[in-house]
Amino acid sequence: MYRTCAFCNGKLDGDGGPSGLGVGRRLAFDEWRSRLWVICPKCSRWNLAPLEERLEQIEALARAAREGRVAAATEQVALIRWQGYDLVRVGKPPRLEFATWRYGERLKARRREQLKFVVPLTVATVGLAVAVNVAAGGSVGVFVWNMPRMAQWMYRGIVGRRAVGLVEPPICERCGTVMRLQARHMAHARVVPDTKADLGLVLSCPSCHAEGAMLIGPEAQAALRQGLTYLALTRRRRERAEDAARLVEGAGGPERLIRDVARRELTLRSIAPERRLALEMAVDEQAEVAALERQWREAEEIAEIADGLLSTTAELEAELRRLKERGPDGGQPPS
Ligand SMILES: [Zn+2]
Ligand SMILES: [Zn+2]
Repeated sequence: MYRTCAFCNGKLDGDGGPSGLGVGRRLAFDEWRSRLWVICPKCSRWNLAPLEERLEQIEALARAAREGRVAAATEQVALIRWQGYDLVRVGKPPRLEFATWRYGERLKARRREQLKFVVPLTVATVGLAVAVNVAAGGSVGVFVWNMPRMAQWMYRGIVGRRAVGLVEPPICERCGTVMRLQARHMAHARVVPDTKADLGLVLSCPSCHAEGAMLIGPEAQAALRQGLTYLALTRRRRERAEDAARLVEGAGGPERLIRDVARRELTLRSIAPERRLALEMAVDEQAEVAALERQWREAEEIAEIADGLLSTTAELEAELRRLKERGPDGGQPPS
């Protein structure tokens, strides 16, 4: 297996884990069509593994996948977490059991991101406060104490002011202004069921505060995720990932949970915190698996051509193998 991505030339990560490929942390496989890919961590494109021994490697992956936990699934694609690896099973709709989620890791990653900001800022402000304190003769000690909270509050402010990434900002039906939406405005948005898309998001207008527009599909999903991320920073108590995971499980998987929440038509702000965390998980996992499905369709097209050519004549097979072994440099002599 090559070490670099055929599309972006970036270095592929991981050691291939159960696949035995020796490279890859996110691996996709199709048992029915005997396909095996390493997904690039940089550009997310799928690198088809060479044909040799692919069967055995796929078998090993399928075994690991059966022990892993299904994070989310569409009809065609299942994202399974197994140890440190992401296994993406595609093709034949697998029979799924939604076991306990492993969302804890991701929550930790998000907190680390927050800490990267909060810690340096706290150190800087404490330094400043100490200087002020010394100048004032030691009377502002209480002030120093509040610094981490202050940094957190600033961080929340920054996240809350991030613009919601929409292709085109919606126009308010009530007052006619262009809605410049920030993450914090999503707190007043309502999740509603939609007949065409799975989920709709009714937006409250930042200028007239009436419900003036509705998003559906991927845009609703993206805006919802941004709003939930912001709200997660505003809560006092830390909801436990396991409790939220149990809620998702109890609902019968991410899709059902999202539908349940949408039926109630609540604003994000008024959803109970543990339920909100559960919704956040469900939406995250679904977005990820939907993206995987899109990438798979593209990768499968390429694989069909590559493998089809290989199986017709031995000559072509040798030629393709030679091309593949030459790696992603496209035949330029090694420098
Ligand atoms: Zn790449
Ligand atoms: Zn308005």
